[in-house]
Formats: sequence, C-alpha cells, structure tokens
Amino acid sequence: RGGKAEREIPFAQPGSLTRVYAVASGKGGVGKSSVTVNLAAAMAADGLKVGVVDADIYGHSVPRMLGVEGRPTQVENMIMPPSSATGVKVISIGMFTPGNAPVVWRGPMLHRALQQFLADVYWGDLDVLLLDLPPGTGDIAISVAQLVPNAEILVVTTPQQAAAEVAERAGSIAVQTHQKIVGVVENMAGMPCPHCDEIVEVFGTGGGDRVAEGLSRTTGTTVPVLGRIPIDVRLREGGDDGRPVTLSHPDSAAGTALRGIAAKLG
Ligand code: ADP
Repeated sequence: RGGKAEREIPFAQPGSLTRVYAVASGKGGVGKSSVTVNLAAAMAADGLKVGVVDADIYGHSVPRMLGVEGRPTQVENMIMPPSSATGVKVISIGMFTPGNAPVVWRGPMLHRALQQFLADVYWGDLDVLLLDLPPGTGDIAISVAQLVPNAEILVVTTPQQAAAEVAERAGSIAVQTHQKIVGVVENMAGMPCPHCDEIVEVFGTGGGDRVAEGLSRTTGTTVPVLGRIPIDVRLREGGDDGRPVTLSHPDSAAGTALRGIAAKLG
C-alpha cells in the first residue's frame, strides 16, 4: 500500500483478548491442517468467534477442509475474509495465488503475507485465531514471534516422528523469541481395527511424549501432550468434504479427542 504506514496488528496490541495459536509441525503430512480446522470448528461450535490464517504455502488446504467456497472481498481498504458454514472465518494464502500457480515463497514474502493477513484483514472481535504454519520450524516461526509476540505455539506430531530434532528446533526458537509452547498434539495415534477391539499402532507409539519431553527440556518449562487423535477414515473424509469430524462425528474417538483439546485451548 505504497508508502503508507503499516496498519497495526490488533492481536499484538496490549490488552488484546484474542488468543493466538500458531500450529506448527516438523514435517508435512502429519495432520497439522486437519488438527487446525477441527479445533477451529469445535471451538466455533462451543460459541467462540474463531479465525484461521492458512499460511501453509505447500498445502493451503484449510478452505477445502472447512468447506469455504467464498473469496475474500475488499471493503474500503480492508480485506473481508469469507466465512464457512462452521462460522469460522478463513483467509488462505491460496486465495491470493491466481489459479493456485506454484509460487516460490521466500522468507520475506511470507512475512509480508502474514503481516497483511493479520493487519489488513477485517477479523472483527475474535476469541481465538489459529495460524496454520508451513511445516518445518524456520523463518516463519520467527515472523510469527515478531508480528504477534503473544502467540503460543501448538506442535503437531505423529507417534513416529524423529522427535528429538523437531523438539530441539521448535524449542530453541521458542526460547529465542520468548514464546510459550502451549502443548503437543499427537495425531495418527493408532487405528482401531474395524473387525476387533485391537488398536493397530500404524505409526508406532511415543512420539508425542518424546516431543513434549524434548520441548520441556529445551524450554525449561513443562510442555504437556494435550491429546492423542487416532487414525479415522471419517476424519480424512471430513477434510475432503469440508465437514470437520468434530462436527460430523463429534462422539467418535477422533472427534472426542479433538474436542477435548479444543476445550483446553478455547
Ligand atoms: P499437514 O497439514 O500436516 O500436511 P494434513 O492435515 O493435510 O497434514 O493431513 C494429511 C492427510 O492425512 C490428509 O489427507 C488428512 O485427511 C489425513 N489425516 C490427517 N490426520 C488423520 C487422522 N487422524 N486419521 C485419518 N486421516 C488423517
């Protein structure tokens, strides 16, 4: 916005009542976006006003997962985020890359995009804002810390993850930036066998605990495992159909686990 001063980020102002969570993971495909949208939908169903910033440059799958078909509109010089049937307001980096053309994102571009999503989007009063970050703990985590110093970090992992590395990197960034790591979510934590009572540990066990222990050590604070979400076909289908499992099957094991985590964060 040529030459004009940058607008302030409302969530970064002292006294802001919006809780901001940056959802991070060490690598892609662990279910970071699925967790984000399900938490958002569950919180909205509990009556909270919720927004999601989809800053995952590799996936930007949040609009599809929440069934958002609308586009952002411009009113005066603010961007109005489309709402979803869940009531969650969404802005996605995919809404600004025409035809979803592949874009090579560099740190400063992503920083600028995030700044605009936070400052130039009209969010209204939010209780909770979730930021779906690209996988990998790098520049973007530092951008978040600069733009919204009070943002807390939520780490998503699988039971399998080479935990030490993630924990160390995410932890040392949090220490550097004085950010709080609110907890760890272990996703894909076993699959109930459809034919018997057994749980198939598809991705092994213990990753959530190992990441939480590593983060606790690195940060010198206690980082809890907030919940474990099993593998559930309905969770994947819900993502594909734009109906989060926390709404379509709230009492399934996955729905219950996710709603429990949402209640801790909301
Ligand atoms: P990320 O954001 O970490 O890249 P996604 O949320 O896009 O990961 O998830 C990757 C794929 O795995 C998606 O197809 C999603 O539906 C599926 N998925 C994630 N978590 C689960 C789960 N607990 N049960 C079944 N499928 C899952």
